[in-house]
Amino acid sequence: MWGFVVIAAVGGFYSARFFTKKEHGHKENYAAFKTDALSNKENIIPVLVVGSGPSGLAAALYGARSGFYSVIFEGPKPGGQLMGTSYVENWPGLPKKLGPDLIKSLREQAQEFGAVDVAQTIKAIDISQWPYVVTTENDVKLHALTIVLATGAAAVLLDVPGAEKYMSWDKGISTCAICDAPFYKEKDVFVVGGGDSAAEEAMQLAPYAKKITLLVRGETMRASAVMQERLKTYKNIFVQYNSKIVAIKGDENRMKEVDIDVKGVVATVASDGIFLAIGHAPNSSLVKGQVAMNKAGFIEVEGRSQKTNIPGIFAAGDVSDFKYRQAGVAAGDGIKAALDAVEFLRMIGFNDTLAEKLEANFFTSEGGLGRTPLTALANKAEFLKAIESSEMPILVDIYTSPCPTCEQMLPILESLASEFADRCKFYKMDFKKLEELEEKYSVATVPTFLVFKKGQIIARGSKVMSLKDMRSLLEKALQG
Ligand code: NDP
Repeated sequence: MWGFVVIAAVGGFYSARFFTKKEHGHKENYAAFKTDALSNKENIIPVLVVGSGPSGLAAALYGARSGFYSVIFEGPKPGGQLMGTSYVENWPGLPKKLGPDLIKSLREQAQEFGAVDVAQTIKAIDISQWPYVVTTENDVKLHALTIVLATGAAAVLLDVPGAEKYMSWDKGISTCAICDAPFYKEKDVFVVGGGDSAAEEAMQLAPYAKKITLLVRGETMRASAVMQERLKTYKNIFVQYNSKIVAIKGDENRMKEVDIDVKGVVATVASDGIFLAIGHAPNSSLVKGQVAMNKAGFIEVEGRSQKTNIPGIFAAGDVSDFKYRQAGVAAGDGIKAALDAVEFLRMIGFNDTLAEKLEANFFTSEGGLGRTPLTALANKAEFLKAIESSEMPILVDIYTSPCPTCEQMLPILESLASEFADRCKFYKMDFKKLEELEEKYSVATVPTFLVFKKGQIIARGSKVMSLKDMRSLLEKALQG
């Protein structure tokens, strides 16, 4: 029945373990995973999911619904790429739903089955021992029996002079039209790329910008025929084939013009902004050198499963998918990864009786990793009362709805509200209810975060910030 025995060569633990090879792929020697040693470990998580896009949330949903304690670590951009999209029209069975709303439903569905959502980023994974040691950004050490890597992919940036300098929504280069299009009213902008994302970015800009030129490097667009047809219905969208940006120029604060090469002839053209849609690169650096991946960094999975080359570690969604990269496919991957994880847990003998015995050793999201909802300020009077009467510093999150970036920041703020509970109060306020106060407090975009002490602003931030940056902004403000 069994084929030959191989000794794997990644890491101390891995090299010591035996794998028996069957007809297709390898099969783990489950006996090597000693569950009796688990009682000495703390912060145990049977199914640890890294990433909170459709793949991560679907994995947690299936893990939890199968009866295994599943915890999602949301990562620096909770919800992933769908948080920056408008309507998702191709989720089977769902005619039309906003990306952030789809993520919200998925998250709530996973939570209903007991999945726990933690607004933290994982900074390290050590596979040299089992249970695998996973470290959060705030240095909490976790012991994972299985890991689902669902860290997604990030937008590829242009590699030309000036691109790095102006790579920020307020300097002119963006990768998210739905977030930043309103800042380009009556402006001339470029969208770089020829895929569906580029077409979508152009259409999201169309209601705002005066002129949008799609710069396509080849002779044809890669976008689907339906998207290309839809583009033709917009009078302010133009497509320039055989074109590429070779330099971006401007002053200290903003880009002003772009050198464009069209069939070898370079011209300098004035421009207010550039939106990039030139593909995505996998976020796989956490396990680089530990888990097998291809040259481009996509994690390799075995056959029709989501198994990586490391037993008990699975990959799902865009981090392992260089071809399809669809939200629905990612969710399907997440489901398969959870089923693979559940099979692994059962095979190593992790059952209900053992889970009950170990419950006291399980990770809980208390102690700085929980979430506290922000108190809503209903009107201007409540806003003024909160900032003037509080003894403690307060943070006010100025948001509006719908606003994907506001949704994206909310879990981060809720997690900080938990962490800073004894030092700062957290509120949220709808931008529309500020009345004329936006001028007084210079609120020009949403979300904007204002930190007040005794009625005075002591710090401010805006748009998407990582948990780390937001925490450091707050720490500095509270110390000062
Ligand atoms: P794609 O990989 O499909 O397209 C990337 C585009 O960027 C290509 O046209 C490519 O050119 C171009 N490109 C790459 N590098 C450069 C560069 N350095 N300079 C200039 N141009 C460059 O990525 P997308 O993000 O568009 O789409 C990813 C997947 O998501 C696809 O499967 C797509 O169908 C799907 N999607 C679906 C949507 C929908 O259905 N509503 C919306 C958005 C995405 P070239 O063609 O010459 O290689």
